[in-house]
Amino acid sequence: MAYDLVVIGSGPGGYVCAIKAAQLGMKVAVVEKRATYGGTCLNVGCIPSKALLHASEMFAHAAHGMADLGVEVPAPKLNLAKMMAHKDSVVKANVEGVSFLFKKNKIDGIQGTGKIVAAGKVAVTNEKGEEQVLETKNIVIATGSEVAGIPGVAVEIDEKVIVSSTGGIALDKVPGKMIVVGGGVIGLELGSVWSRLGAKVTVVEYLDTILGGMDGEVSKQFQRMLAKQGMEFNLGAKVTAVVKSGNGAKVTFEPVKGGEAQTLEADVVLVATGRKPYTAGLGLEEAGVALDNRGRVEIDGHFRTNVAGIYAIGDVVKGPMLAHKAEDEGVALAEILAGQHGHVNYDVIPGVVYTQPEVASVGKTEEELKAAGVSYKAGKFPFTANGRARAMQVTDGFVKVLADKETDRVLGVHIVGFGAGEMIHEAAVLMEFGGSSEDLGRTCHAHPTMSEAVKEAALATFFKPIHM
Ligand SMILES: Cc1cc2nc3c(=O)[nH]c(=O)nc-3n(C[C@H](O)[C@H](O)[C@H](O)COP(=O)(O)OP(=O)(O)OC[C@H]3O[C@@H](n4cnc5c(N)ncnc54)[C@H](O)[C@@H]3O)c2cc1C
Repeated sequence: MAYDLVVIGSGPGGYVCAIKAAQLGMKVAVVEKRATYGGTCLNVGCIPSKALLHASEMFAHAAHGMADLGVEVPAPKLNLAKMMAHKDSVVKANVEGVSFLFKKNKIDGIQGTGKIVAAGKVAVTNEKGEEQVLETKNIVIATGSEVAGIPGVAVEIDEKVIVSSTGGIALDKVPGKMIVVGGGVIGLELGSVWSRLGAKVTVVEYLDTILGGMDGEVSKQFQRMLAKQGMEFNLGAKVTAVVKSGNGAKVTFEPVKGGEAQTLEADVVLVATGRKPYTAGLGLEEAGVALDNRGRVEIDGHFRTNVAGIYAIGDVVKGPMLAHKAEDEGVALAEILAGQHGHVNYDVIPGVVYTQPEVASVGKTEEELKAAGVSYKAGKFPFTANGRARAMQVTDGFVKVLADKETDRVLGVHIVGFGAGEMIHEAAVLMEFGGSSEDLGRTCHAHPTMSEAVKEAALATFFKPIHM
């Protein structure tokens, strides 16, 4: 049978594209080489990491956060196996949810490795080595990304002692010492998990700042908060070697600006230096599909590759490697294939770090506005001045709103604080509608909420906050 659409990869890009296309009346198949659907995100990424972040946060809260509220409990005991079982059950529920949605939308899920033979033809080889060829009008490459490793350093990841994020969400005991190579989102999230459970965590980062690319003020203050929680940082440090040693491993690094190298030892080293597009074995070269200079599938503004009938979305193409970006591209592409006007607004893609406190950001940073020569105004409001934050003892952090100096249109919002990942969406909606800081500041916010700090930061941007 010929399909309207064959999607290769069932991550948030691929499965969402498939469902949307089926909803719009297309006959769709999804090819997935993993045993379960949902891609990196549901199997080894967003979902399991958030399950562990939540559980470890509860553990830390029970240990340190309750006595001041008059809730006295004995010191909590960690049952790591049970915590991991919780994570696994959350993953299972989510990946089974995708299978259910495929059935509901009459999508054929085909287990096996997909290879593009030519436009209109995808060969799928299953575990037994059997091959079938699917005929289709359109092909979507949604094969995602894989661990990138450390540039210029040969590292043997065994997922036990030297681990990627995949091993980092599945350790069977809490390491005494952990070194995290890379101070980006994944490193800080998983570093937080193990630090809360008792590991002494040291982060080694090439840049002078953690969360490179985030607003500078946000990352500086956030680093201080993590340091208060016990994490150590070596910034501006270039890792030159990661080797196993005894039961643990050694990491050697030297100052990027030059200077003496040092070596640290740890029980576990987490390599979290980023991810790279995954295109191996897809047959792209034979099919004539062009890659860009960073190995990503090259696409135009409508997700078209250079070969007619072949499209690509998600981590395997340019743009931030985020699940919701992949999902939105999947929806937009399905709509385009159905003759509609699918579109993704890349200026309004929120980014969240699910630590405690959370960090959330949408739109431009101050550094980006300065570099682009945009004249802007900034308004800030700290959670120390927010009643709900005081009531919940979560006064760390602030909200910052950046707006165009002339028009007052909001260009970026950055939040460090409890629940930042939920609060950021009012800023995203405002920005989608081209709203101003005055619009945000004049919108009635329920009292007492953490979100009142967003309103106050907006008031601070166009005039003055009330509560400061
Ligand atoms: C630890 C961790 C935490 C993360 N946390 C977050 C988060 O909180 N929020 C967020 O937005 N993002 C997060 N991410 C990033 C997020 O997981 C990715 O951006 C997202 O999964 C990309 O979706 P995708 O559909 O492009 O690809 P993927 O999810 O990578 O899915 C691609 C799928 O294609 C399959 N595949 C590849 N080649 C073939 C082939 N030839 N044939 C058949 N199947 C194939 C793969 O097996 C895979 O299942 C996290 C990532 C990691 C590693």
